[in-house]
Amino acid sequence: MAAATESKMVHSAVVTYSSMLSLLSLCPPFVILLWYTMVHADGSVAQTWNFLKQHGLQGFIEIWPRPTAMAWKIIFIYGAFEAALQLFLPGKRVEGPISPTGNRPVYKANGMAAYFVTLITYISLWWFGIFNPTVVYDHLGEIFSALIFGSLIFCIFLYIKGHVAPSSTDSGSSGNIIIDFYWGMELYPRIGKNFDIKVFTNCRFGLMSWAVLAVTFCIKQYELNGKVADSMLVNTILTLVYVTKFFWWEDGYWNTMDIAHDRAGFYICWGCLVWVPSVYTSPGMYLVNHPVNLGTQLALYILLAGILCIYINYDCDRQRQEFRRTNGKCRVWGKAPSKIEATYTTTSGETKTSLLLTSGWWGLSRHFHYVPEILAAFFWTVPALFNHFLPYFYVVFLTILLFDRAKRDDDRCRSKYGKFWKLYCNKVPYKIIPGIY
Ligand code: NDP
Repeated sequence: MAAATESKMVHSAVVTYSSMLSLLSLCPPFVILLWYTMVHADGSVAQTWNFLKQHGLQGFIEIWPRPTAMAWKIIFIYGAFEAALQLFLPGKRVEGPISPTGNRPVYKANGMAAYFVTLITYISLWWFGIFNPTVVYDHLGEIFSALIFGSLIFCIFLYIKGHVAPSSTDSGSSGNIIIDFYWGMELYPRIGKNFDIKVFTNCRFGLMSWAVLAVTFCIKQYELNGKVADSMLVNTILTLVYVTKFFWWEDGYWNTMDIAHDRAGFYICWGCLVWVPSVYTSPGMYLVNHPVNLGTQLALYILLAGILCIYINYDCDRQRQEFRRTNGKCRVWGKAPSKIEATYTTTSGETKTSLLLTSGWWGLSRHFHYVPEILAAFFWTVPALFNHFLPYFYVVFLTILLFDRAKRDDDRCRSKYGKFWKLYCNKVPYKIIPGIY
């Protein structure tokens, strides 16, 4: 129990509790203010600020849209459709990494199929005049509002389930209600044997909504202006390339911190159900009403730079996973990989070995893959140019998130691998940016 608390206390207790409480209370209103500013205040923070200064709390309550029946209907149909695809589409059986208590979760890898079925269905509904995606844009505030409250209730359900009906031994309480609710209790919560809740919240609802909303914003701009500006095209294409890459590599994602280390609570589940559709999509949301014209040459340069960053980010993840999958018997940048054999002890007392790659991308810095991730986000935002700061909020947020994540991951790996991690740090001294940090 105490171990669960300690493992989450990589920062001091004051920082941990104050950041948890402020994120719990500030994220929901922020989502609404971001949407309001993008859609109704020209993307201008100053305009929203002046409005709030004039109208105070009452003004804020007035701009907070009530969740309408239409919003719930859209969310429910989308969620049910994605859940059905997750359950019923065929896919090969994939084993996740060994969990801290020695379990090995099993998944059905049908993410790419679900992604294509979703996009083809959505675009076909529009094409054949059955459902106009602009309805989603027109009800976006109500949808976010419904998601905020619905996902909070969902997190309470996860908290109760963690207490009364955990799906596996990878579950437990820290003894503190705030930590349990915020960080979650179960690592692999499931409904029945097969329906993995984190695959649903993180991948099939969250990441999928990013692609669906990118298409929605494009269609809305087309409806408003009779054409799609090249800035919107660059943003949408890069977003779709990124999300396609994600689903192409989804079974690799099941080996990452989000799934293998972070438990299902407010931080990861509310984040994926609400923060991804509202904040990750925000550069595109801004562009709907700001059809910037970049010109073909500049648009192409930005597009190519973005695709290159997405490719490098993918290649970093691929390299690590290929290295682990083949037990180090692979080529890394044309050579045999250099590695550290790190032993560690599981919570059940078993001794195990992991290989740490110390060449290729993983020899440049210990989290080099975050550099192209941040740059890719910059490239799908820069078509908005620099009239307003708010489209860049996601890039700034992502930078803070990933720098914090590098620290969390380093601390976790240090306590897992001890002297072997120290050896890795001596060999690869930089955390993220080679030569700088
Ligand atoms: P990683 O996939 O990098 O996973 C980190 C884990 O990899 C460590 O905990 C450790 O786990 C293992 N590891 C660390 N160093 C090595 C090494 N040298 N050799 C082999 N294994 C190693 O972490 P993330 O989950 O942060 O990133 C996954 C992807 O998701 C990245 O592309 C990232 O950019 C992206 N991402 C995107 C976010 C977004 O919001 N857009 C947010 C977070 C991530 P073990 O215990 O198995 O040793």
